[in-house]
Amino acid sequence: MCLMDVVISVDMEGVAGVATRQQTRPGGRDYQLARALMTAEANAAIAGAFDGGATSVVVNDSHGPMDNLLGEQLDPRADYVVGSPKPATMMQEVTAATGVVLFVGYHAGASDPAGVLAHTYNGLGFADVRLNGHSVTEAELNALMAAELGVPVGLITGDTAICAVAEKALPGVVTVPVKTAIGYTAARSKHPSAARQAIQAGAQRAVADAVAGALRVAPVPDELMIEVDLRPHGAAELAARVPGAERLGARTVRRRVADTREMMNVLVVWYSLTSQFIASQA
Ligand SMILES: [Zn+2]
Repeated sequence: MCLMDVVISVDMEGVAGVATRQQTRPGGRDYQLARALMTAEANAAIAGAFDGGATSVVVNDSHGPMDNLLGEQLDPRADYVVGSPKPATMMQEVTAATGVVLFVGYHAGASDPAGVLAHTYNGLGFADVRLNGHSVTEAELNALMAAELGVPVGLITGDTAICAVAEKALPGVVTVPVKTAIGYTAARSKHPSAARQAIQAGAQRAVADAVAGALRVAPVPDELMIEVDLRPHGAAELAARVPGAERLGARTVRRRVADTREMMNVLVVWYSLTSQFIASQA
């Protein structure tokens, strides 16, 4: 039997029933409820992955502090990654030996006017993230990190906005929309149990596609220029000090990177500098 190692990256903003910031923030009134919803969607994807032929599954907690999943309630067949920082952030544990990666609970990018809690990595700090001049989502950049290792993305779940982006950007990906944005912090959602059924079926199909060798790996551009609009004016002064970075304007920095791992390293440094800057102004 051939091995089919599956990594599931689980974010929270794209989970069914989640639409407000207090739900996604530790300390928010319904954060504990949102953690349970997130954990249940992870379980649906784990079950579907094994139904589809996975031989191992690891779940990577990919939201905020990355310690959201309720470990005791996770399907015991899967390992899970808890805590941060970690070298590959949302793509931790994806290696050249991984058969397919699944994105659960994903969301639209910072410049998308029609996504629930739309942002790109740093909601408070980044107004937009562009790769080679085009606005991009976390899903697309994470997919490039996997693609550089030869790993395809098989599934994405979240709102209709990110599913539409993924259909264009990720060839052959199975999309499972679980809600539609009414506004930035409002959505019409599927019932959580209906969402979980759809996610399990989608994960099963995605992993079966991977077993059959039917998934394509997204092409990685030869040149990678990463550019970010930072919300606070002063943060760009700090971000431009990263070796090789240039400041293009009051709030915009960019840097050419050699590969997607370096791209993520630069984004993490800009993310951290910006968060620190915002905290220092409070
Ligand atoms: Zn998140």
